[in-house]
Amino acid sequence: MVQRLTYRRRLSYNTKSNRRQVVRTPGGKLVYQYLKKAKKIPRCGNCKEKLRGIQPARPQERSRMCRRKKTVKRVYGGVMCHKCVKERIVRAFLIEEQKIVLKVMKAQQISTKGKKA
Ligand SMILES: [Zn+2]
Repeated sequence: MVQRLTYRRRLSYNTKSNRRQVVRTPGGKLVYQYLKKAKKIPRCGNCKEKLRGIQPARPQERSRMCRRKKTVKRVYGGVMCHKCVKERIVRAFLIEEQKIVLKVMKAQQISTKGKKA
């Protein structure tokens, strides 16, 4: 005998939110089991690499989760990967260093000019 599967909810269109799976119950009946939408793992805002240490979840679910599961404790944690953050820090440091070097060079030039004159 062929069992007829019926929806267990009112929504009868084959939409993303109405995805289901056929499951056999302990009583031997075949029923639909509704599936949840795919969870997404957040990606790095710079290099698009998957972020580790963050629980994948649906947006609504994420709002209910505790902070620990949503971020890592680092600057840009949960937004950028560690490599991109490192690069940024190094770049900022080098730019600052360059500024200092330029300042020193300018000061030296002025002092040598003063000696010559
Ligand atoms: Zn990255």
